[in-house]
Amino acid sequence: MLHASAPQAPLAPQAVPHALPHAVSRLRTTRLARSSKPFLARGGPSGERCAGCRLLPSHCLCALRPALPVRAGVCLIMADVEPLKPSNTGWLIADMVADTFAFGWARTEVDPALLALLADPQWQPYLVFPGEFVAAERVVTDTLIASAKGQAGKRPLFVLLDATWPEARKMFRKSPYLDSFPVLSLQSEQLSRYRLRRSQRDTHFCTSEVAALCLELAGEPHAAQTLEAYLDVFTNHYLRAKNQQPVDLEDAAHQRLSGLRWPAAASPL
Ligand SMILES: [Zn+2]
Repeated sequence: MLHASAPQAPLAPQAVPHALPHAVSRLRTTRLARSSKPFLARGGPSGERCAGCRLLPSHCLCALRPALPVRAGVCLIMADVEPLKPSNTGWLIADMVADTFAFGWARTEVDPALLALLADPQWQPYLVFPGEFVAAERVVTDTLIASAKGQAGKRPLFVLLDATWPEARKMFRKSPYLDSFPVLSLQSEQLSRYRLRRSQRDTHFCTSEVAALCLELAGEPHAAQTLEAYLDVFTNHYLRAKNQQPVDLEDAAHQRLSGLRWPAAASPL
């Protein structure tokens, strides 16, 4: 059974931010309602959590959500358990990118709302996946995305498979409705440049890092940097909550985020 959150009519990025639960939050709610037993995050019963950010109220992130206009859209196709994980970073994308859509994946069914979104002429979908798994003619480069920006006003819609790598491969193979879309492959020098900039040795990219890279390729570097900085702040809050340490709102991660947010021209406030 698929219980995806239906995409809403696109809101202008300047619309009152965060007035409604976003797509990942709605998908989580739907998924929780379907559970026959309560989902326990690692570490046991989670206690009181903020509904807006999934963190302990003492470590709430909600006041730090970036609000800036983003032209690109993100379509998250999520493995069954992903919306339930408190550490899922697709949530952070939905916090920031107004046009974020989220659907649960199932092998035998596809949500008609997902098909409608993919067919919507305002979007040019790009399936983000390693190019080595697809025919070369399907693989696009950042140059193509940049040039597509001017084509008939289409906005890029980055389709991300939010799952572990084995799950993502299965989703990729068993979702024929994605077969017709160009594949944006990030397995390239872009990744190593990104990795160098982020000074991280880990070769795993989380979903919001992939989205940040997509935003950069789509010509939205400020949004890309903001999403990266927001991920760092989220990680900071998440780990400090786990270790029962207070949040330091003046540390480097917070300062970087506040330095990026809401430049005068884009401020909705
Ligand atoms: Zn919160």
